[in-house]
Amino acid sequence: MSLSPLLSRYDHVLLDLDGCVWVDQTPTPRAREALGELRGAGRTIAFVTNNSRLAPEEYVRKLWALGLQASLEEIVTVGSAVQYELADRRRGTPTYVIGAEAVYRHVTDAGMRVVNGTNRAPEAEIVVIAGHDAFDFTELRVATQAVLAGAEMIAAGRDRIFPGPDGMWPGTGAIVAALEYATQQRAHSVGKPDPLSFRTALDRLGPGRALMVGDRLDSDLGGAAAAGIDAAIVLTGVATRRQAEAATEPAPVAIAENLYALVTA
Ligand SMILES: [Mg+2]
Repeated sequence: MSLSPLLSRYDHVLLDLDGCVWVDQTPTPRAREALGELRGAGRTIAFVTNNSRLAPEEYVRKLWALGLQASLEEIVTVGSAVQYELADRRRGTPTYVIGAEAVYRHVTDAGMRVVNGTNRAPEAEIVVIAGHDAFDFTELRVATQAVLAGAEMIAAGRDRIFPGPDGMWPGTGAIVAALEYATQQRAHSVGKPDPLSFRTALDRLGPGRALMVGDRLDSDLGGAAAAGIDAAIVLTGVATRRQAEAATEPAPVAIAENLYALVTA
């Protein structure tokens, strides 16, 4: 087993998680060996995900639990990108959050005041939207009222779907679309394909040639292009071979059955 000629051309590898490194709780075929091969060959790695259900330290724990080594500095979630985006806003700005517990923490850490569950919720000046499993009508209603009253929408990406344990699950983009439709306003998205997450990862990795590996043409391939780096598509998630082969602007530098097949030769 050795590094493929393609991977030999790069110093850094940015890896998407859902549909690339794992699907729900299961690593993609031989993902562990693929990461071992990359690290053994001296490639530096960052994990870049639009999924904000977990905090970065929880992703580290999940990776270790699945037998995949990782460190906190290697994890870039869209929650971190949301926090970065909010960090220069007025401290204490009332903010309504649609998202998992991890997103609440990112919003609080950015200095915003979370108004969920208070009678000030419809007066929020910012609405943060991130897909989560407990999403409900109350969130959609309160967020709609806040946006109609002038709140700004910040979205953790626009992914329509992501691979779940029993087929595709609706992603953050489906909730963003519902809010945009209700309010006729446009959200500002900071998730992939916005280059912010990629730049955060590239900043940490330092100079060198970087390759993004992911399963989505819009977020992973499109986002990599926006950040000025190459991308390869793996077929363990959303994109089919036919869709990946049809992608031209930009085109992936490689299409592989899975991460292991891409990495090894
Ligand atoms: Mg993915």
